[in-house]
Amino acid sequence: MSGTLRNANLRTGRSFDLGKMNLRQLWIAYLTYPTIILYIVLAIGSFTLLARHFPGIGPTLLAGGAVVAVYPMAWYAIHRFILHGRFLYRMKWTAGLWKRIHFDHHQDPHLLDVLFGSPLNTIPTIAIITIPIGYLIGHLGGSAAAFGTGLTITCIYEFFHCIQHLNYKPRMRWIQKMKQRHVLHHFHDEDGNYGITSFVVDRIFGSYYVDARARPRSPSVFNLGYDVAEANRYPWVMEQTGTPPRDRPAGAPHRDAA
Ligand SMILES: [Zn+2]
Ligand SMILES: [Zn+2]
Ligand SMILES: [Zn+2]
Repeated sequence: MSGTLRNANLRTGRSFDLGKMNLRQLWIAYLTYPTIILYIVLAIGSFTLLARHFPGIGPTLLAGGAVVAVYPMAWYAIHRFILHGRFLYRMKWTAGLWKRIHFDHHQDPHLLDVLFGSPLNTIPTIAIITIPIGYLIGHLGGSAAAFGTGLTITCIYEFFHCIQHLNYKPRMRWIQKMKQRHVLHHFHDEDGNYGITSFVVDRIFGSYYVDARARPRSPSVFNLGYDVAEANRYPWVMEQTGTPPRDRPAGAPHRDAA
């Protein structure tokens, strides 16, 4: 048993703080995290179903490939238009959802608990996107291939997203660049670099930028536009947080090593 999970300095309450972890500690936290374990178990279940209702190698590769191609598009649309939209916090019944799925992550980008999506939200979303594609290509087996691929990509996305908030400098150039782009989304201007592992869709839709000189710093980069004035008009997120929205992460004196 590693000391990581017992080290009180790494935990704030139940939370892991990526600003204080190294890569080895991240691997341990990641592979023991219930949400990740759930994805892995469901992916194994999907691939077992695929084997039992195997539609052939062609449809299997097509279903998997289609999901790999569609995924960055779907993530981009969800991240830009839903998570960064202003409508979810303005309705009482969706305010808590918005807080959990994105506001908390921008308020405190290092907390592992709110970095990972809630499986109650992510699993139905993955199913809705992947299963119809897979079904059209290969019925039950195709659906299983597509859903399993979607879960696998989600695990990869979540790992790279952790690395982007981990306080370390990756050795590989392409990971360094990927990390820099996402750090800009969190610490410079949130209205850009919506991708996680790929910024191809950002390039297509003109939301890609490479450094802080490209744009002025956004005042809403930590609160996503839910500032104190908005919180007074739409109080539900603030009521659940228990404090007014912050303009910067709480007690985060360090800068991200990007
Ligand atoms: Zn992030
Ligand atoms: Zn965001
Ligand atoms: Zn940081």
